[in-house]
Amino acid sequence: ERFLHKNNNVIESNTELNNNEEFNDDVLTQFQNVDIHGTVDFNPAASSTIKDFGGMHSCKPLAVVKAAVSDDIASIIKLASNSHHHITVAARGNNHSINGQAMVNGGVIVDMKSMAKNSKTHVVVFQENGQTKSTSKNSKENQVMVFQESGHDMVNGEVFIDMKSTSKNSKKNQVMVFQESGQTMVNDGGFIDMKSTSKNSKTTQVAVFKESGQIMANDGVLNESLGSITTPIFIDMTKSTSKNSKTQVSFFQKNGGGAAGYADLCGGAMWSEVLKDCIENYGLSPRSWTDYLDLTVGGTLSNAGVSGQAFRYGPQTENVTELEVVIGNGETVICSKTLNSDLYFGVLGGLGQFGIITRARILLQHAPQMVRWLRVVYSEFNEFTKDAESLMTPGIEADSFDYIEGFMFVNSDDPVNGWATVPLDRQQRFDPTRLPVSAGPVLYCLEVALHYSNRDHWSKVDMVVDRLLKRLSFCDGLRFEVDLSYVDFLLRVKRAEQEARDNGIWDAPHPWLNMFISKNDIARFDRLVFKKLLTGGVGGPILVYPLLRHKWDARTSVVLPKGDDRDGGIFYLVALLRFSPPYPKGPPFEELVAQNREILTTCIRNELDFKLYLPHYELEEEWKQHFEDKWDTFVERKAKFDPKCILAPGQLIFRRNN
Ligand code: FAD
Repeated sequence: ERFLHKNNNVIESNTELNNNEEFNDDVLTQFQNVDIHGTVDFNPAASSTIKDFGGMHSCKPLAVVKAAVSDDIASIIKLASNSHHHITVAARGNNHSINGQAMVNGGVIVDMKSMAKNSKTHVVVFQENGQTKSTSKNSKENQVMVFQESGHDMVNGEVFIDMKSTSKNSKKNQVMVFQESGQTMVNDGGFIDMKSTSKNSKTTQVAVFKESGQIMANDGVLNESLGSITTPIFIDMTKSTSKNSKTQVSFFQKNGGGAAGYADLCGGAMWSEVLKDCIENYGLSPRSWTDYLDLTVGGTLSNAGVSGQAFRYGPQTENVTELEVVIGNGETVICSKTLNSDLYFGVLGGLGQFGIITRARILLQHAPQMVRWLRVVYSEFNEFTKDAESLMTPGIEADSFDYIEGFMFVNSDDPVNGWATVPLDRQQRFDPTRLPVSAGPVLYCLEVALHYSNRDHWSKVDMVVDRLLKRLSFCDGLRFEVDLSYVDFLLRVKRAEQEARDNGIWDAPHPWLNMFISKNDIARFDRLVFKKLLTGGVGGPILVYPLLRHKWDARTSVVLPKGDDRDGGIFYLVALLRFSPPYPKGPPFEELVAQNREILTTCIRNELDFKLYLPHYELEEEWKQHFEDKWDTFVERKAKFDPKCILAPGQLIFRRNN
């Protein structure tokens, strides 16, 4: 029982307290009387323990709170904070952690998905033709404005925008003043602050768009950043989105630079729901994904959120412009790169330590309709990495595939780990006679995808794909491809889930290992681990693909390998996604955990430059080593935003005090 680990005093004390009836009665009464919109379920205390996707750990919480609104979370945290019983609070997304990171023993689990369920999509959209698209009856609550370079006017109820004087030259700073009268004064372009457009607003607000995409408020303080959006087009939904967790989507103009808009998402929303909602209702889509989408917004943003789009847009944590967070004293704080930035950067990749994300503003793109999905095979690791890296070379990367990943597989007819894992549909066959005689025990597959529209002629898609593949040196005759809808592509792992559920391996333990490894050491990792320790595979995918460091903001809590001048700003993701049948059909999970340990020991002994992704450590010393030069900042932020160490105890980083 990991919670009894000798260094984990938090859990030890919780376990003791949980066995104390007097404690339970007292705390139960407090929680029974708490005034929230959602519900408090005490059954878990009496019933069996709760496991996560990893299936190796379990916990027995005092209660599970099904939050309905973010105020519920604030109330629960305040109660825990004021309790004399060292109660801790764990936000639980979809509980897809491997090592009990969303667990709490004797404390309170806040079920974030219930909050998402409670929220309805509520959108008002101005489209390019100036018409309004509304999914809400009370559309007056929301106000959306679109600045168009064409100078077209757009009106939404009481909001009037005069764009006549909007400059076509978006390179200049642009200022616009909104006045209560509805008149607009423009100085060379566009701006926004929606507070000034509400009926109740008493003040005039000014903002400046700078080339950087930053917006300057009239108090002279930078209050927003929109990443790569540089055109004078902006929509602020702050007013209508701050008080609830409804999905809110805004449109940016088609030529609006890096993004087409943004969505305000509940922290407990699952990415699969977000995809459905954004595509079906708006034809928009987040830009950066995970491979599997039944994970929550708050859960992946607390780690990073990585998939094949990250080489272009960075991980999911790089596609958030604003967060609403309930911190460790129960206060609700809005933060962005320029507003409460310490909290914003802390929370992104922050393993839930600084607050519970109740809302995240996520950048969107116009969703492609179709995807060509391809896999090509390599026998040599250096050829595989050279080609994968070449596709994401800065400058070329914008004119490359839209998704780039890769994996290692076994050079055999093993149905789970070998050749059969490469073809993309049942009609395709892997022909091993196409492999060079020099091929070793393991092979590599580069996996890429190209977005296109229904209107694109197939010959155009072929042409682009052929042009991009021409430069690559994969094994002749080992190229596989299918065309499918964008949604089906993004839901590809969901289909695998169904199969795994049918075989009983979805619910078996999953001792996964995820790492980031410096490019400098990835060839050594191949030699020491892939070619020595993993020649039989892991019973599931072994992902290995490059990522670009400059797409990851160093100010977030995410930890990457050190790297140096020799690595060209590249590091690799390696993920051992073990899917073995439950013991005794498969090996006992302890054996697989031991293999993970052996891999890590090999890396440490050989001084490979690596970091765990989705880290799991139990000792403070280990966490310190993990965070290295970010440790002091991490500790300072903890002291600032969760001084009593109430939040996310399952990460085993800090222990609850006073
Ligand atoms: P949980 O497991 O419920 O929580 C994770 C941690 O975040 C906990 O500490 C919890 O307390 C905290 N937390 C949860 N919600 C919030 C919130 N709203 N605010 C603050 N803290 C919160 N990761 C990738 O990057 N790319 C992938 O392609 C990928 N694929 C995966 C596929 C599968 C099948 C699985 C099981 C995992 C995958 N992951 C992937 C890992 C996944 O991103 C993390 O495990 C993530 O934490 C799971 O999200 P969740 O919603 O289930 O979070």
